[in-house]
Formats: sequence, C-alpha cells, structure tokens
Amino acid sequence: MKKINGILGVSLLILVGCSTKVPIIAVQLSDDDGRNRATISKQEVSDWVRYANSSWSGTGYEFTFDEERDFITVKSTLLNSIPADNDNRAWEYYNIIGNYLVSLQPATHVPVFFRSHGQTAWSWGPGQTNYISMPSWVNSCRKADSGENGRCESKCCPDGDLLAHSLGHYFGLAHTSSGIACEAVRLENADGDTAGLTAANWDDVADTPADPGVHCIQEQSRCGGAVQVNGIEFRPPVRNLMSMYRCAKPKLSDGQKAVIESARNNPWRIRLGAE
Ligand SMILES: [Zn+2]
Repeated sequence: MKKINGILGVSLLILVGCSTKVPIIAVQLSDDDGRNRATISKQEVSDWVRYANSSWSGTGYEFTFDEERDFITVKSTLLNSIPADNDNRAWEYYNIIGNYLVSLQPATHVPVFFRSHGQTAWSWGPGQTNYISMPSWVNSCRKADSGENGRCESKCCPDGDLLAHSLGHYFGLAHTSSGIACEAVRLENADGDTAGLTAANWDDVADTPADPGVHCIQEQSRCGGAVQVNGIEFRPPVRNLMSMYRCAKPKLSDGQKAVIESARNNPWRIRLGAE
C-alpha cells in the first residue's frame, strides 16, 4: 500500500507544473499570383504566442512556435481574403479549402493563417473549422483604450490578445455575450450564444457572468464595475478572454477550461501536441 501511495505521489507531482506543449504552424498567405503577401514576421507570430501563453496560463496548455520549422507560405487568393458577410457559399468554400489545407499539415500543430486582407479573426470547434484565420499584425490594430491595458496609448494598437482569443474559439469556446440588441438583453439570456460544444448555460459555461456585450456599454465604463443596460445591472466578465472588452490580463474560467478539455478529446484535436 505504501508503495502504491508513493507511486501516486510521484505521478501527481509530475502532473502539477507540467503543461502540454502545443505547437503553432504559421501559414503566411498571398494571392494566387504571389502578390499581396501578408505582412507577418516570425517575431510577430512569437509575440502573439507569448500573449496567448499569458492568458492561457493555468489551463494546462502552453503554445510554442518554432520560427525555423513552423512558418510556411501558401498562395491562395481565397484564403488571403474575408468572404462578404452575407455570402454563405463563399464562407462554405473558404472553410472547405481551409480545412483541406490543414489536412496536409501535421495534426500535432494548430494551423494559423495570416491574411493580407481584413482586420478580423475567426475559428470554431473541432471538425468544423480546423484552423484559425488571422489578419496581419498591423491590420489587427484597434483603437487605444485610454491606456487601461497598459500596453499602448497610440491611436491604433495591434491586438495582442487576438490569437489567444481565437485559440479559445478553436477549442470550442463561444463569446461571453450573444450580440443581441441592447434593448433585448436580460440577465438570463445575455450570457453568450448556444453554439458551443457542451450543454450548459448560454455560452455553454456556467461560471461566466451575464454579459450584455461590449457594444451596449459606453467606452469609459468598459473595464470594470457594474453597468446598467436595458434597466438591468450587469457585472460583465470584462477580463475574460472570450469577452470583447480587451481589458488587462484576460483569463479563462474553470468552466471554459472544461470546454477546452472536451474539445481536446475530440478526434480532430486529439493529436495536438503529440510527439
Ligand atoms: Zn471572437
């Protein structure tokens, strides 16, 4: 019995303080003719990965980027652009080609596309969207938020948390807010959308507070405290990585970590980080 305890003790020690290293493969896109190559440097990818590891600390995952081995270039006008909002066929086509390109890459890596066009990023859960599509570093620029995040006070700052946030989507996490009209938000329904991977509350996560959405809150009140929207007092999770507030040091909740774990066990994600 003593011996068994000893063995258990040792394996617990190994589990604590040991996180799974998950490599990123960066795909620098250009158009079919090689023009409009995304302006993304290996250093910028490394910076984004560093930010991601800061907000993902405590999840058991650490993202890595090997500047020599894991940076490739691909010509695809389609993947280098963002389909129009209302063009469902174009989005479907993007997804088919994106997932196909990913199927040619090692399943141990998270594939991250860097486009030259557009400012937004997206991804989604296992089997549906097996890649992350990102803008270039300079195109990710957001309006400075009065220095609250302590990183940048110029007119336009690259969004350091964008990869960290998109990795959340890649592991099946929805936003904490649903994006519905501000006049319609209620405490019961304002906690995100229903499209995540596990059945629970609105964003599939029970421990993130109701969030009316960043668009319903005045800019100066966005990084803390209670806010009134639609006559209701909210305390939105402004420092949650899957909210849109981008206040300092975003984190993930325990409920979100459980969703990530469940996504990780999906066959489309299970090889991530394997030797
Ligand atoms: Zn998002």
